[in-house]
Amino acid sequence: METIDVVVVGGGVIGLASAAAIAAAGREVCVLERHPRPGMDTSTRNSGVIHGGLHYPAGSLKARLCVEGARDLYAFCERHRVPHARCGKLVVARDDSDVAGLETLKARGEANGAEGLAIIDAAGIRRREPHAAGIAGLVSPNTGVVEPEALVHTLARVLEESGGYLLPGTRLEGADLTAGGMLLRTERESILAGVVVNAAGLFADHVAAMLGGESFSIHPCRGEYAELAPSRAHLVNALVYPLPNASGHGLGVHLTRTTRGTVLIGPTVHHQDSRHDYESARLALGGFLEPARRLLPQLAPGDLRLGGSGIRANLNPPEVSFADFLIRRDRLNPRIIHAAGINSPGLTSCLAVGKLVSSLL
Ligand SMILES: Cc1cc2nc3c(=O)[nH]c(=O)nc-3n(C[C@H](O)[C@H](O)[C@H](O)COP(=O)(O)OP(=O)(O)OC[C@H]3O[C@@H](n4cnc5c(N)ncnc54)[C@H](O)[C@@H]3O)c2cc1C
Repeated sequence: METIDVVVVGGGVIGLASAAAIAAAGREVCVLERHPRPGMDTSTRNSGVIHGGLHYPAGSLKARLCVEGARDLYAFCERHRVPHARCGKLVVARDDSDVAGLETLKARGEANGAEGLAIIDAAGIRRREPHAAGIAGLVSPNTGVVEPEALVHTLARVLEESGGYLLPGTRLEGADLTAGGMLLRTERESILAGVVVNAAGLFADHVAAMLGGESFSIHPCRGEYAELAPSRAHLVNALVYPLPNASGHGLGVHLTRTTRGTVLIGPTVHHQDSRHDYESARLALGGFLEPARRLLPQLAPGDLRLGGSGIRANLNPPEVSFADFLIRRDRLNPRIIHAAGINSPGLTSCLAVGKLVSSLL
């Protein structure tokens, strides 16, 4: 049986960044990941946007860790040559009734510490995004994009270079609390851990229960994408968003020019029971056309292709509009630290979440 200071369950960006921060602080740490490679769930099934911090309630962990995390992530990407671009984002107002919404978003972003926000007029929109519709826009210059796969691989490399271990193909199957720590069972071996970090994404509630921790529920919410046909990708320069929808789930179908030059349309919001089902009953392409046309009126049905999908690990059920990240020591079992309910902006925030988790040790 192996004995180790800290075991992190989950090799997505949150588990990897947490483990890298823990290893950098001089502690022994390993990451258990059930898939054969890290990052195969939500961490590589997203828009890859480095958010600026506009959308989250002031004082929330999401607001704080997004702004801090974006700053850290840009520096990390520079240092480790992870493909990224600080391309800026445009939120468009379609008519006069939307303009107040831009002002609200700007005020919220500024309260959260987002820098350089500016309202522009229709001519300003035309200069940034000549094909986008709108009478006014909010520009967030600090928003950008990162390539999620490269980020995952780089975090895994940095973890191992700091002396941490990544154990892919290793699912946590059970646990017992003993006098010396948590005895964790996997198919291959048992590991005695002083502390367990729960970064299990869509399965964080199952892992909390397995570890004898407090009870909470993850509510899976699928987000689907279409893409612009390559011949039409030139219509979008960077990131074009509508005002967020009133439900609070998702930021509204938007246009994302990725680091690879493709343009994503989405993600949609589809609440479901399954944490595994990325494909059944997918929205037909026609369902993307109308929201995409509100941003880019010249789109025709033949301009769209079906894209991928991801599943958000929401703590809020469909009828509740917001839940903050759950990052703290478990109230029943102090040997557990949760980094759970990490939906968007989790990719942006991963390094800041990692630092916070490490500090909780
Ligand atoms: C459609 C969509 C779009 C998004 N867009 C953005 C965006 O543009 N910008 C942004 O900042 N954020 C975005 N997000 C959010 C972001 O992707 C997530 O917050 C982030 O990836 C969460 O990372 P994670 O490590 O918590 O989860 P995951 O990547 O899901 O990692 C959890 C890992 O735990 C493993 N695991 C689970 N159970 C066990 C077990 N028993 N034993 C071992 N391993 C286990 C899983 O296999 C998985 O690899 C988006 C999310 C979605 C769904």
